[in-house]
Amino acid sequence: MAGQRGERSVLLIVGAGASGMLAAVSARQAARELGIGDLRLRIMLLERNQKPGAKIAISGGGHCNITHDGPVDRLLDRGFTRKNEQRFVRPSIYSFTNGDLLALLASYGVPTAPREDGRVFPVSGVALDVVAAIRRMLQDSLAEVHTGTRVEGMEVGDRGVRLRAGEACFESDSVILAAGGSAWGSSGTTGDGVRLAASIGHAVVPVLPALAPVFLSTPPDPGLVGVTLRGVGLVVESNRGSDFRRGDLLVSHRGISGPACLSLSRSVSEMLAGGGAAPRLFADFFPSHDPQAVSTFVLDQAARNGTQFVRTFLQRCPIAPETLSERNPDASVQTETIPNAFVPEIMTRAGIGREQTLSVLTRQQRLELAGVLKRFVLGTARTVPLDKAEVSAGGVSLTEIDPKTMRSRLHPRLFCCGELLDYAGEVGGFNLQAAFSTGWVAGRHAVRELFS
Ligand SMILES: Cc1cc2nc3c(=O)[nH]c(=O)nc-3n(C[C@H](O)[C@H](O)[C@H](O)COP(=O)(O)OP(=O)(O)OC[C@H]3O[C@@H](n4cnc5c(N)ncnc54)[C@H](O)[C@@H]3O)c2cc1C
Repeated sequence: MAGQRGERSVLLIVGAGASGMLAAVSARQAARELGIGDLRLRIMLLERNQKPGAKIAISGGGHCNITHDGPVDRLLDRGFTRKNEQRFVRPSIYSFTNGDLLALLASYGVPTAPREDGRVFPVSGVALDVVAAIRRMLQDSLAEVHTGTRVEGMEVGDRGVRLRAGEACFESDSVILAAGGSAWGSSGTTGDGVRLAASIGHAVVPVLPALAPVFLSTPPDPGLVGVTLRGVGLVVESNRGSDFRRGDLLVSHRGISGPACLSLSRSVSEMLAGGGAAPRLFADFFPSHDPQAVSTFVLDQAARNGTQFVRTFLQRCPIAPETLSERNPDASVQTETIPNAFVPEIMTRAGIGREQTLSVLTRQQRLELAGVLKRFVLGTARTVPLDKAEVSAGGVSLTEIDPKTMRSRLHPRLFCCGELLDYAGEVGGFNLQAAFSTGWVAGRHAVRELFS
């Protein structure tokens, strides 16, 4: 298919996901602002799937957590915990903010609403509505979408770009690489973008799963599977260091999942990749208090209600409380308590008998109990599955991409955006926002470059 170039300029975009589609929309908008007639710029998206926007369609469990509410600085702080990555996405998210994104969607008939925790969803709760709206934007932008077209080779020279997809060859003046990361490969993202960038000399940071469940060497006790620990601390430790998150933790058949685990999984992946002893994971049922405070709390309860069984005390014990009440905690007052399923295991590990009451706990047992509650061993991490990760960390090195324009510092005709870059946001709409924003910036600057 050579020879598409002629009188008009051609902008090729590899990948019709969140970043690629927004790049096409912003490219046309920028061209029109520059007074470039639509016929003078051909925008083509090459997408390996049969439909664009596959990952948006499955995002947020099919509801699409589009972005995060609030001021941009807060969004950046919550969403991008690694400072170099935050610094990188900052200019693009300021250029195309969460407000800009939501206004654009609203203008295409997709009203959105924030939830209490700041996550923003379409009011309809249907991710496909977001995909449909972006497809309408593409139509208005006169962007051509070539589906079923997997780009396998790329050459970028001083005079133009050449892409190979099977037997087909596409030529253009500029290219935007927006082929996504390496996570959840069944949606079309198997790391092609990173490989293509590497093939023309870009440095690549090793790809690792992030926002993923963690599989343990020994699967959890079946009696614990499906149980959620609300607001607990989750700690990972290895000979390479330690890390901590706080949030809900879910016990699964093969290990752990839930928000705290997803957020911590990148650190677990890094420890596993680093070699050495396998990382160990612990749950902290009292993350706001030290072991001494927990022990004193138990002692205090024993003094007030010594005839109570330890198991009853634990069943009624608040989980992850902010303050340790002097009164005997009661499930009717405290909504979230230590799940019943965990109580026998906690007692066994602390060496406490089933029929023991609080008054007969020895000092040693009380200290053991406080220790188990602060450091409940979940197990040893076996793997963090990339195919079950929501995003991948690693990818095209940020040092070789200009964060203000998304332009490659190696190839002036190449722009990179989205998850193929070496950043990864937290759960909460941050990854889609980053993909939309970096895509938006790439599209605008690719056009400015073409017509400057
Ligand atoms: C299950 C799941 C749920 C998620 N939920 C959320 C959420 O609610 N909120 C949030 O913020 N983030 C969420 N994410 C993450 C978010 O979807 C991604 O970070 C975001 O889509 C990345 O955008 P992108 O444009 O970089 O890549 P993608 O959206 O992945 O788009 C890349 C596109 O490139 C195509 N492609 C790949 N290789 C080639 C090739 N060689 N040739 C042509 N085309 C190619 C792919 O098929 C794909 O369509 C979720 C991810 C998953 C897997």
